[in-house]
Amino acid sequence: GPNSGLLGCPVNRGNAMLTSRTVGKNVASELARALDRNEIVPYYQPIVNLQTRRIEGFELLARWQHPIRQNISPAEFIPAAEKLGLIGALTERLLRQACVDAANWPAHLQLSVNISPQQLHDSGLPKQISGILEQARFPFQRLTLEITESAVVDDIDLARLILGHLRSLGAHLALDDFGTGYSGLRHLQELPFDILKVDAIFVRTLCTKTESRKIIAAVMGLCQSLKLATIAEGIENDSQLEMLRCLGYGNGQGWLFGRPAPAAEAEALLKNEQSAVALNSVAQIAEQV
Ligand code: C2E
Ligand code: MG
Ligand code: MG
Ligand code: MG
Repeated sequence: GPNSGLLGCPVNRGNAMLTSRTVGKNVASELARALDRNEIVPYYQPIVNLQTRRIEGFELLARWQHPIRQNISPAEFIPAAEKLGLIGALTERLLRQACVDAANWPAHLQLSVNISPQQLHDSGLPKQISGILEQARFPFQRLTLEITESAVVDDIDLARLILGHLRSLGAHLALDDFGTGYSGLRHLQELPFDILKVDAIFVRTLCTKTESRKIIAAVMGLCQSLKLATIAEGIENDSQLEMLRCLGYGNGQGWLFGRPAPAAEAEALLKNEQSAVALNSVAQIAEQV
């Protein structure tokens, strides 16, 4: 076209090179290579019990350790991977590594993995996942699959089949980003979820906006009647934590408890917690004596 230079490359227009469209293109062309070079790595964010603040599991969040560029957000490269048909391969690599990492955690901890809506069109998904888990001897009962609400699942019957199969193998299913999409309630009606993750946008204004508090409370009511476990996303301060506890939320996630971090840091967090618990029980025994 008129905007293309030699070989169809965009003509350098100075700052125009830095537009998000150009960045998107680079991401796409580099992604396959990045996968081969193991530049896409798992980070882990703790999910804690809001009453005890003890870690109940970790969510795997993809990070691109690019040799030059920094901070390419998954919000950018995950959609690119979906478009390029690389999301299956990406998930497979991350999950393989995560099973190795999670082998060092206490055996009751969950591993939560995000699944793209596109993967719910692939009837081979249960087989792919069970192959990885079998090889790593990682039990399905410790796996939680997160499906984002915002994606419209266009073949809900196939999605139900795939998710039902994975659930019958023991996996837990979480509806992610609840409240931000168009069809969250329909998904709750049609798909066998165990957990609802209420989106961070409601938590952010929980203590400053009456509407947010009312919505969060109403969602809790929904979870109670549907017997869903709850996770609140994006908890950054103590007042949000206190409010969510009062409203009956079970688990939570957010910078208040820990940012996504490499496997070694997640392990260190667990070690710290274990020694704190040990110290605490020593103190309790000392008190009784
Ligand atoms: P998500 O699954 O809803 O993950 C939660 C996002 O909120 C993460 O962003 C996390 O870093 C961020 N977050 C957690 N606590 C806080 C907090 O207290 N404050 C704030 N401001 N943010 C917080 P991240 O890691 O950038 O990931 C963005 C999205 O990309 C994820 O949203 C998920 O939809 C997608 N994603 C990430 N990794 C994968 C993956 O391996 N596969 C797929 N399919 N999607 C992924
Ligand atoms: Mg998630
Ligand atoms: Mg979410
Ligand atoms: Mg999200």
